[in-house]
Amino acid sequence: MKTVVSVNEISEFEIKPKAELGEWKKLVAKETAERWKDKASWVKVSCPVCKSDGSTPAFNRSGFVYVECNSCKTLYAQTRPSEKELNWWYTGSDSVNFWQQKLLKLSAASREAKIIEPRANWILDGLSEYLSNTPLKNIHYTDISFFGKGLIEKIAETTEGMQIVSAGITDGNEKYSSGAVKINTVSSIDNISHLQQTNVLVAIDVLERISSIRDFLLQLESVVSPDGLVFATCPVSSGFEIQSLWDQSPSIIPPDKLNLPSVKGLIELFTASSKWKILELSTPGMFDVELVRQAMLQSPGENWPRSLHVLLDGIDHQGIGLFTEYLQSQRLSSFARIVLRRERSKIL
Ligand SMILES: [Zn+2]
Repeated sequence: MKTVVSVNEISEFEIKPKAELGEWKKLVAKETAERWKDKASWVKVSCPVCKSDGSTPAFNRSGFVYVECNSCKTLYAQTRPSEKELNWWYTGSDSVNFWQQKLLKLSAASREAKIIEPRANWILDGLSEYLSNTPLKNIHYTDISFFGKGLIEKIAETTEGMQIVSAGITDGNEKYSSGAVKINTVSSIDNISHLQQTNVLVAIDVLERISSIRDFLLQLESVVSPDGLVFATCPVSSGFEIQSLWDQSPSIIPPDKLNLPSVKGLIELFTASSKWKILELSTPGMFDVELVRQAMLQSPGENWPRSLHVLLDGIDHQGIGLFTEYLQSQRLSSFARIVLRRERSKIL
């Protein structure tokens, strides 16, 4: 299993204009409070990674109660809007509309350079490394990412002949300049069973929004063909930022981040069946150190652990770089990217 260091994955929040990002956060808080004032229709879920019910209360964020799984240490919202309600959120809410029509457009140029291009290179490198014997015209490529249009356009530019399907729930109304892209939108965030079999499945920012990562992996067993690849990203609970800031983490904004698996939980899940091989599991997040440092500066009266003061008070630019590299090398930053291969069934 590969662990890549220094790839500098940028978070969407880092490239968004501050004023409009603040406006979006307020809109999310207002809309979730209004829409889900009555939580009678909410559902209770077991751990989305290991299915265990044993958990310890963690914190409350905007009416969402997060717990930590006692078994695999996944952090998750234990009660949450139903699948139907979440499908509405991603296709009909003002908050998602604002994100798509305003924030993504305002940040389009830097998003293209800092997020989409590195991700496209990650996927293209993966295709040439792991599917080198398969000609592009024989590759069926499906993208179920949230807000995945930019990445699909970029991939289509350099993969002539490859059949590409845009299936993300947020992208059903998008138009593509390349004729190679077909639209087959999933009707639900939790159900991808109608998709045609594919050699490559891309799921950016999906795992944190679905009701069960474990059940999703079972669905992938029939959607991804033998020797096929899955490229996915996900925030992780075991990272330095989440572990340090916990209830004060600025990056947990429900209902976008309902699941934050631990790296250990993910590895155990992917290795539990013989159906998958982990080709890469890296945590290339690069803002853990800075986010913790900023939170400490903004709330100096908070009772931060002495160890955090020792590590971060007076840290310089070089120190931040070295610390970030250490976190990435130990899979201890708060954002993971994953490449899985669907193994051929072994004949016993
Ligand atoms: Zn668990």
